[in-house]
Amino acid sequence: MSEASTSPERDRRGRREADAEELLACDDCMSPADAFSVVASETRLSILEALWRSEETPVRFSDLRREVGMRDSAQFNYHLGKLTDQFVVRTDEGYDLRHAGKAVVRAVLAGTFNESPDVEPFGVGDPCVDCGAELRASYADETFAVACPDCGKPHGKYAFPPGGLNDRDETELLRAFDQRVRHLHCLAADGVCPECNGRMTTNIVEADEPEDAPLGLSVHVEHVCAQCRHRLRSSVGLSLLDQSDVVSFYRERGVDLSATPYWTLPWCVSDEYVEVLDRDPWALRVAIPESDETLTVTLGPDLGIREAEREA
Ligand SMILES: [Zn+2]
Ligand SMILES: [Zn+2]
Repeated sequence: MSEASTSPERDRRGRREADAEELLACDDCMSPADAFSVVASETRLSILEALWRSEETPVRFSDLRREVGMRDSAQFNYHLGKLTDQFVVRTDEGYDLRHAGKAVVRAVLAGTFNESPDVEPFGVGDPCVDCGAELRASYADETFAVACPDCGKPHGKYAFPPGGLNDRDETELLRAFDQRVRHLHCLAADGVCPECNGRMTTNIVEADEPEDAPLGLSVHVEHVCAQCRHRLRSSVGLSLLDQSDVVSFYRERGVDLSATPYWTLPWCVSDEYVEVLDRDPWALRVAIPESDETLTVTLGPDLGIREAEREA
């Protein structure tokens, strides 16, 4: 085999390196460091934000300057010039945001760059699935968590951008967190990384020592992104929340599953309801009890439902 012959893996690596080189060598492109230095100015961020908030675009120079509140026209022109082409597009009618400009405003609005809000832990109003004590929600390091203050049982802990805390009271915050967790797992289970849109793979993981295992679960699901290495862990039950068998089982009992916080569903936060049928390939059985009946579903390695059965 000669040096030039390539394996698929080397092929991919070669292509990635070539892509990266091309990106760095691109004459029209701006390096990330340069891009950040351009927007690391209050005035420039104000310009981008004014364009974002403007109901009609393009916006004329004089209107934009008034909106930003800058008297010095030459100085304003200087800052606007720094943004033009990369973040802002200039036409005969005026100025508008380019995709990169919108991305900056979104990042700022999401609070990723400049907020570190303090949220005091608060009572969730729902009981711990293990001991019945009232759950508490807390927020630290841009991560929202629901856990039991008495027995310590975790009920979910996921990244939650600080922008999501704005203008939301505790009830709305819990609702947003519930929706976000479902959404993240939905995307991940469908093979799309919620961070970078890269390819995600789903694995079933069994821990030897459940006490040390993530989420305190001996059997759980792990989604990993092949591109950015982002990792998302969850209970097996969480992946069943949008499955039609499960949704209709609840609907027939008058329960709207999408409006039920996942942490109130024991089979979503505990692995007591999960039984390992096989490990190669993986086959799991999950029991979902609700009022007088139990729905039992059998899952394959991709967490798709292979069989669903009801028992009184
Ligand atoms: Zn508890
Ligand atoms: Zn990713």
